[in-house]
Amino acid sequence: MAAATSLYSILPTTGATFTSGEGVWLETDQGEKFLDFTAGIAVNSLGHCHPHLVETLKKQSEQLWHISNLFQVKGQSELADRLTANTFADKVFFTNSGVEAMECAIKTARHYHFANSEAERFEIITFKGAFHGRSTATIAAGGQEKYIEGFGPKAPGFIQVDLNDVEALKEAISDRTAALLIEPIQGEGGLRYVSTEFLKTLREICNETGALLIFDEIQCGVGRTGKLFAHEWSGVTPDIMAVAKGIGGGFPLGACLATEEAAQSMVPGTHGTTFGGNPLAMSVGNAVLDVVLEDGFLENVQDVALLLRQGLAELTDTYPDIIEEIRGQGLMIGIKCKTPNMELLGAMRDEKFLAVPAGDNVIRLLPPLTLTKDEARDGLARIKNALNTVKK
Ligand SMILES: *Cc1c(COP(=O)(O)O)cnc(C)c1O
Repeated sequence: MAAATSLYSILPTTGATFTSGEGVWLETDQGEKFLDFTAGIAVNSLGHCHPHLVETLKKQSEQLWHISNLFQVKGQSELADRLTANTFADKVFFTNSGVEAMECAIKTARHYHFANSEAERFEIITFKGAFHGRSTATIAAGGQEKYIEGFGPKAPGFIQVDLNDVEALKEAISDRTAALLIEPIQGEGGLRYVSTEFLKTLREICNETGALLIFDEIQCGVGRTGKLFAHEWSGVTPDIMAVAKGIGGGFPLGACLATEEAAQSMVPGTHGTTFGGNPLAMSVGNAVLDVVLEDGFLENVQDVALLLRQGLAELTDTYPDIIEEIRGQGLMIGIKCKTPNMELLGAMRDEKFLAVPAGDNVIRLLPPLTLTKDEARDGLARIKNALNTVKK
């Protein structure tokens, strides 16, 4: 099923391909340089070919690639200890992707109730506009018809309600509810705003009913918003959390984090993975955290994000017919467009500036977290040029 040409080809006219990258820059085989505010969809959290990641992966590749979870894998306990020391969680299960982290989260929530002799509690409530991955279970969880259609009966056990609608949520809760599942900031759905109040209400409902709260921080986590995890802005903690994308800095890596209580029945053998937690991924994951947990790193993300936001606010005032509003947090920014987002995205590409489309007619800016203020200003100048093109 490998596509000969990318489904969403960012370079449709020239047919060029990207062959190298450094920091925020991508270079084509024809020597053209692009300012990359996609970061591989929030994956290259430290930019392309960060020296510390390159060195770590080189070194690990000469020592050990894979032994399987039959054995203790060096690096797993180190990465798990660092993740739990810096979050609500006590337990970590490593995966190779976001969707596997989500599958683990869903299974953990259901198994928790099963082990508590409440096997009938399997329903998971999710929210409109959500995206949780492309497996048969997670397309049902995301609830978007465009991803569900054509793939057989929708997996049962997922109910969707409107985002920020407390009444609808309360109506959907029943004695079958196993968990509430939400992205603290929606990625693919268009960075729709989730209020702190709403997250607090979810936590309260879970505390009252015994349902578990699951956060999908696959896109908004690992420093993207200027905190290690986006939910820290709200002060609300989940019972289970799916992480991926930025944690591997470009190497396939995901993780499902949980409290001791939520994960108590997930003993070795209940769930499993062959590749998950392999030495290569562990070494890179640890190297990403070396940088992200450095003193001042997240503050710098917030500073650069503020500069970008101020620049975008000015552009919103200057081009009110094109930009409706700016959304998001930290370096996860959404430009909600009035004109078709793909048109502005094309004009940006002509300025050699790369960004990501999202639902709700939004353009996502997801630059590497290592973005400097000068690079942010460079990006703003290119966005302005693109806006001028669209205006004409
Ligand atoms: C990307 C993403 C996923 C799926 O991750 P994959 O690595 O593509 O499987 C799930 N949830 C969110 C919020 C995402 O952004």
